[in-house]
Amino acid sequence: MIAKKARLRAVRKIQRIAGYRLPDFAFHGANLEMIAGSLNYEQLDPTLRDQLLRFQKDFLDCRCKGSPLCGCPEQKFVL
Ligand SMILES: [Zn+2]
Repeated sequence: MIAKKARLRAVRKIQRIAGYRLPDFAFHGANLEMIAGSLNYEQLDPTLRDQLLRFQKDFLDCRCKGSPLCGCPEQKFVL
């Protein structure tokens, strides 16, 4: 899927900034948690920051207790 591949590139960039390896699958729990919270957005270049903020808005905006590991992000992506 093309969208998935595009996001994969973002994941690789994040990996470099984070300094550790992340799963290639953008919707993996570890990635979602990082995008949703632990990532330092100040360190990102503006393009990547925009991408991730859009990603957050599109996929991580639910209010489930277990978010972002509640399954909504993946489900929204499929729809
Ligand atoms: Zn949810």
